[in-house]
Amino acid sequence: MKKRLLFWLSGVILPAALIYAMPFFFPNRFFLDVLTQVGYTWILVAGLNLLVGFSGQISLGQVAFFGLGAYGSALLATRLGLPVPLAMIAGVVLATLFGAVVGLLALRVRGLYLAMVTIATGSLIEILANRWIDLTGGPMGINVPGLGGANRLGPVEYYWFVGLLGLLVTLGLYNLSRSRFGRTWLAVKSSEVAARGLGIDHLKWKVGAFVLNAALGGLAGALFAHQNARFTSDTFTYDVSVRALVAVIIGGTGTMTGPLVGAALVVGLPTFFRELYDWYLLLFGGILLATLLLLPDGIVGALGRLIKAITGRKAKATATTAQATEQAPLPTFLCTQGSTLTIEGLAVHFQGVKAVDGISLQIKAGEVHGLIGPNGSGKSTTINAITGIYRPTAGRIQLADQDVTGLSSDKLARLGVTRTFQNIQLFTDLTVLENLLAGAHRHLRSGLTGALLHLPGALKEEAAFTAEAMTILRFVGIDHLAHEQAKNLSYGQQRLVEIARALALRPNVLLLDEPAAGLNHVEVERMTALIRAIAQGGITLLVVEHHMEMVMSLCDQITVLNFGAKIAEGVPETVQNDPAVVEAYLGGAEMGALLQGEVMHHAAR
Ligand code: ADP
Ligand code: MG
Repeated sequence: MKKRLLFWLSGVILPAALIYAMPFFFPNRFFLDVLTQVGYTWILVAGLNLLVGFSGQISLGQVAFFGLGAYGSALLATRLGLPVPLAMIAGVVLATLFGAVVGLLALRVRGLYLAMVTIATGSLIEILANRWIDLTGGPMGINVPGLGGANRLGPVEYYWFVGLLGLLVTLGLYNLSRSRFGRTWLAVKSSEVAARGLGIDHLKWKVGAFVLNAALGGLAGALFAHQNARFTSDTFTYDVSVRALVAVIIGGTGTMTGPLVGAALVVGLPTFFRELYDWYLLLFGGILLATLLLLPDGIVGALGRLIKAITGRKAKATATTAQATEQAPLPTFLCTQGSTLTIEGLAVHFQGVKAVDGISLQIKAGEVHGLIGPNGSGKSTTINAITGIYRPTAGRIQLADQDVTGLSSDKLARLGVTRTFQNIQLFTDLTVLENLLAGAHRHLRSGLTGALLHLPGALKEEAAFTAEAMTILRFVGIDHLAHEQAKNLSYGQQRLVEIARALALRPNVLLLDEPAAGLNHVEVERMTALIRAIAQGGITLLVVEHHMEMVMSLCDQITVLNFGAKIAEGVPETVQNDPAVVEAYLGGAEMGALLQGEVMHHAAR
């Protein structure tokens, strides 16, 4: 309750009052125009901040959406005589559609290539604005009606309109960032492979962020278009895109107030320091560099850290040693019949390297199947092929009666097959609880509107899955860490979070790649008990492990690989005494350890 009040005061009422009061402090026209410009730049930057800070993509072509919003709205109002508010909406729709097309085409590429594609789309709009003079008026400009028809809004009212819209957009994005949307984007950003392993269709989410960014760019453009009675194509240059990106970074990527701070700086500096105008690209370059070097999380991020340091609210030390406590049974909502997983003649070749070369095995529903073998024998590759990270070169994978060969990992996850990773892949920007909620992705249904407006349906769903996630954390024994950032946990705790996150998907089949690697003796015992409890709940398990005592005590069946081929299989005793197995291990450096049942090897991380 108190938190809510604080949110309304500091997030809504205070900023709205400040936006309202500005014209009384700066009553001249020049300042009002600058403030209005800051207002729509704020929206432009907020969209890009969503794209960069949350979904981890980049765009250097913001001018395209800005331009489409501006010309779309202006032309529809002048040529077709659409009322300005409708024309603005149409401009936003136009930019959004263009964003969807570019997004769908471009997001298969990433990084530098994506940056290049966006630069190209920006140039396209720039050229059209300049050269298609019949339509746009080019550098001569076009006349545009103002908002409010004949009694067009005066500069003060228009500024209020833009400023309050900026606030509304920010509040919507704030809600969005704290919903499953923000979580899913951050998950994709921090580990695409883990996100897909939990059923998140990364492309869909990336395109989604791109389209939202385009819509906000279009809105900023439409607001720009109707600010004055006339505008020219001079505005639409690469400069718009660069400034937007600079503003995101200076303000603080992924923060909520950063876009406003950034927008105020990139609009204010060249305006108020006219002498510097010719130098301002250099100036921005310098500020950008200084920000990246000195304030990696931008001005807002640095201020946040300062406030934390002053108020002394440091993250609590999380070092709690695992205790050999009683293991609770698997929560009932996770209990399942499991599904049988059948692998026939599976092969995965990497340009000549036969990492896996024609292995067959069957994991019966509800069984624990061990997969062992010396380092480099193809265990992880087998898991990667089963979970759709690698496409098998040959062979068949069958889940219950369904042929799932070649399905992508997110599709498989939505069928209830998930995994953990040999080198832990947590969503480090999220808390432990949020990691689990990301794991529950395939069960979450609430849509964009619910998230933007914090509608009761969305909140209810969130509460239900938070309760479920807490139950899982209690089962795993780390519920006291629910609100810690995943990156602050100890290695052993991170392994537990990864398993808990996989459980949040409510899997039928769970593949664990070296769950005990890097754990101390007590932690290994806890882990063994935990896996046993998961198995007793009926989930089909494939366990890759070097810790032989654990494997032998847990598994119903064991398959042994060497050089990508199966060399033995059977119940633990049979496998343990199989001469081929002993031979395979004796060949390696780990020799006697297997026979003595000791920790053999901590795989390279
Ligand atoms: P294990 O998990 O049993 O230690 P892996 O499955 O990780 O072994 O690796 C099996 C073999 O395949 C190794 O020789 C490894 O170098 C090779 N390998 C694995 N992944 C790739 C890849 N993406 N590209 C090329 N070679 C790979
Ligand atoms: Mg491995």
